[in-house]
Amino acid sequence: MAQRREVMEDGAELRFDHGAPYFTVSNDEVARVVSGWEARGLVAEWKAMFACFDRETGKFTDFEKEETTKKYVGVPGMNSICKSLCLEDGVVAKFGVTIGRMDWVQDKSSWSLASLDGGDLGHFDYVVATDKNIASPRFSGLTGRPPPLDWSLLPQLSVMIQDIPIRPCFALMLAFSEPLTKVPVQGFSFNNSDYLSWAFCDSSKPGRARVPLNSQSWVLHSTAEYASKVINNIGPRKPSADALAKVAEELLKEFQATGLNIPQPIFMKAHRWGSAFPATATSGDDKCVWDKSMKLAICGDFCTSPSVEGAVLSGMRGASKILGCLNFPSGL
Ligand SMILES: Cc1cc2nc3c(=O)[nH]c(=O)nc-3n(C[C@H](O)[C@H](O)[C@H](O)COP(=O)(O)OP(=O)(O)OC[C@H]3O[C@@H](n4cnc5c(N)ncnc54)[C@H](O)[C@@H]3O)c2cc1C
Repeated sequence: MAQRREVMEDGAELRFDHGAPYFTVSNDEVARVVSGWEARGLVAEWKAMFACFDRETGKFTDFEKEETTKKYVGVPGMNSICKSLCLEDGVVAKFGVTIGRMDWVQDKSSWSLASLDGGDLGHFDYVVATDKNIASPRFSGLTGRPPPLDWSLLPQLSVMIQDIPIRPCFALMLAFSEPLTKVPVQGFSFNNSDYLSWAFCDSSKPGRARVPLNSQSWVLHSTAEYASKVINNIGPRKPSADALAKVAEELLKEFQATGLNIPQPIFMKAHRWGSAFPATATSGDDKCVWDKSMKLAICGDFCTSPSVEGAVLSGMRGASKILGCLNFPSGL
């Protein structure tokens, strides 16, 4: 649910949904929440036509039928929902702070949280944690520090949260001075490509400004196999600008090899999503990991399904558990 702002050399600002490009809803509980967002103008339907592109034959196939599932996008960007949640009454949002340590303080029956650099962030009665790597050695690979949660505190949950398998992805943000006229759809998956899995015309979504005028922006997703190979070579830490530039060149080359008349872009940048998609769901029917005695809910797509809908459902389940302890009706 991310949006990236980039400024070009001439000062023009570009925006890309470089994470989830859209989401769908099938669960009734989530559908009710999403209709509320739609009524408030936070999300809108993206009436996009999707297909599949076969890299070997150079042809589009499997054009989607019009009556298929509604695709929703945040307006004006995918981050609109999270932005709005931060503005709800009683919410205090802090940005740019990574939780580096969570300690259970038995005599206060609360959690003490510290930032990555050890700064004290205070005590909290309940914690909702959304990090797939909260108790995983992967956190150490990324930061050089132990993971925030010592899983031995919660031995009964450790199997679920200690090492959630993930599939990585690189996203390539591209802007072209003119629309790609040989592409007849707004989104397509790739068949028979070792590099690319999806392409989305970002500027065709509702509520997006076209800057510069007549330009078109696209976001491409790499295959998980390509991303794993690159990450194995460059290591788990944040990639250098040079490493990202090389990924951008390779993915663009593959896009241009489609024969779809892809010109040189006026802007391009790659982004690494090291833990993009959980490869399994950890918590079965509960849809969140909950420890009542330690007042800890661990929620996220990794508890349910690798999607926005899965994350929303998991968050709703975590909220219900906490509201239940506080004797509030859940209302969710
Ligand atoms: C490239 C890509 C394409 C996708 N495509 C789709 C799609 O087409 N449709 C769809 O439905 N979904 C898609 N998804 C998946 C969707 O984005 C996720 O399922 C959803 O965002 C998961 O939400 P979440 O809250 O579980 O986790 P996240 O969105 O990862 O949110 C977790 C939050 O916790 C914060 N956090 C983590 N660790 C810490 C810490 N230690 N301290 C402080 N904060 C921390 C993170 O910064 C982040 O803000 C895509 C994802 C990616 C990356």
